[in-house]
Amino acid sequence: MITPVETPAVTTPAEFKCATLSYEDFKRMEDVVKTAALISRNRNWNRDATLVTDGVAYLEKDKRQYVANRLKQYAGGLWGVTWSRRNDRDYQMWLNPELEQNRTDQEQTTLHELCHAMVATGTSHDESFRKLLHRSLWHWNELMGRGWLPWDLGWKCVEKYTERRANNYLEDRYGYESLDEYHDRIQRECQRAETMAHKEHVEVMKTLHDGFGWNV
Ligand SMILES: [Zn+2]
Repeated sequence: MITPVETPAVTTPAEFKCATLSYEDFKRMEDVVKTAALISRNRNWNRDATLVTDGVAYLEKDKRQYVANRLKQYAGGLWGVTWSRRNDRDYQMWLNPELEQNRTDQEQTTLHELCHAMVATGTSHDESFRKLLHRSLWHWNELMGRGWLPWDLGWKCVEKYTERRANNYLEDRYGYESLDEYHDRIQRECQRAETMAHKEHVEVMKTLHDGFGWNV
């Protein structure tokens, strides 16, 4: 069992309004995602939250409406939403308070949403997003000794967002592919993320130490 690393003491800012997640935990995850985004030269790595909440009442009216509609549509199965705008350093996030029931789901969802915050607006779940998420999950797992299987998590994410559909692709450039080609593509994508994570882990720790005050 790895002892989680020490991170700086923090005061909860006014923008953080969560009853089911501590700011300390959130900030740790944000530091790791920002670090991963910074290292892969994503220019939105320095976005900052103007609101992070698990209470829909805190959201602006249009966002509150969006969450309410989607919760209804997915029968409650909406775990988080992140809003950002091009050329804007602000982001806002809503996290489903039901995540409190499962700490792992809560962490994995928060990391997922943070990746949305730190990639270019409008990229949705494309490869740049998936790669940042896979790397962030990998580093978080390593730093916190979670015992997750980042490869499997990365694989599931690629599957979920590039489902095989002949002539009806989410990502046009792949066109039609056989099942073998599909599996090869997922394997290659996961391999790229894992290779990069392995190579950069020391740099991640150095950045967390130098830039975010972590005791690593
Ligand atoms: Zn998402």
